[in-house]
Amino acid sequence: MESVLIFFENLPSWFRGSLLVGGIVLFWMLEGLIPLYTVKYKKWSHAGINLTLTVINAAIGIGLAFTLLKTTEFSKEYTLGFLHWIEIPLILEVIIGLMMLDLFGAYLVHWTEHKIKWMWKFHIIHHTDTNIDVTSGLRHHPGEIIFRTAFTLFAVLITGAPMSVVVLYQSLSVLFTHLTHANINMPDKTDRFLSLLFVSPNMHKIHHHYKLPLTDTNYGNIFSIWDRLFGTFVYAQKGSIVYGIDTHMEPREHSNMKNLFKIPFSEYRPPTSTDSKFK
Ligand SMILES: [Zn+2]
Repeated sequence: MESVLIFFENLPSWFRGSLLVGGIVLFWMLEGLIPLYTVKYKKWSHAGINLTLTVINAAIGIGLAFTLLKTTEFSKEYTLGFLHWIEIPLILEVIIGLMMLDLFGAYLVHWTEHKIKWMWKFHIIHHTDTNIDVTSGLRHHPGEIIFRTAFTLFAVLITGAPMSVVVLYQSLSVLFTHLTHANINMPDKTDRFLSLLFVSPNMHKIHHHYKLPLTDTNYGNIFSIWDRLFGTFVYAQKGSIVYGIDTHMEPREHSNMKNLFKIPFSEYRPPTSTDSKFK
C-alpha cells in the first residue's frame, strides 16, 4: 500500500493526462460497440463544447492542485484532521480518506449546488446536455471547479488526508466520471450489483433526467452509499429517462458556448414542473 501511495504522491502528469484522454478514447469506442441509446446526434460537434470545457477545467485543476498540496502539508504540520489522531492500519486510513473526499468533495458539494440557486446556475451547464456520453462527464462551468475544490480542501482539513490519497481519489474520480456518463449499455444485473456500493452508469443517468424529482437524486460520484444513507438514491427504468434540463431545452441555449457561459449571470429559472411518473 505504501508504494501505491508513493506512486500517487509523485504521480507524473502524463499518467493523469492518459487517464483523462485514454478513458475518453476507450469509452468512445465502447459507445460505438455497445450503445445504451442509439439516438443520432452530431457526436463530434457535441464533443466540441464538452471537450473545450474539459480542457479549460483541467487547466484550472492543475492550477488548483497547488492549493490542495499546500493544504495537505498544512494539515500534516499542525496534525489537523482525525486521521492524524487515530491509530489504524494504512489501508483503512486510505479507504476512509477516499470515502470522506467523496462525501464532502463530491456528494455534499453536488447536493449544495442543487439546493442553492446561484450555485445551481453554474452547475446547470452540466445538466443542459441533451445527449449524455463520455464527453459529458467533465462538461462543467469553470466556476464550479472552484466550489468543488473548496469543499475538497474542507475534506482535507477534517480528515487530514495526505496528497497521495487526494491524487488517488482524483484519478479514480476521472475513471468513474467516464464510466457513469458513457453511453454504454451496462447489463441490468451488473449495474444493479455495482450500484450497491458504487455509482453505476444507469444510476447516474437518472440524475440527468430533464425534470424533478429525478434531477435531485443520485448525487454520488464514486460511492453510492451516500445517496443510500441520505435518502437520495433512486433506481428508475433506463428507458424512461430524457436527458437535459426543463428550463433550458432550446438547442441555442445548450449548444452554444457563449450562451452557456452566460447562464450563471442570467436570471434564475424555476423548474417548470415535476414529472408525475416518478413522484
Ligand atoms: Zn447535478
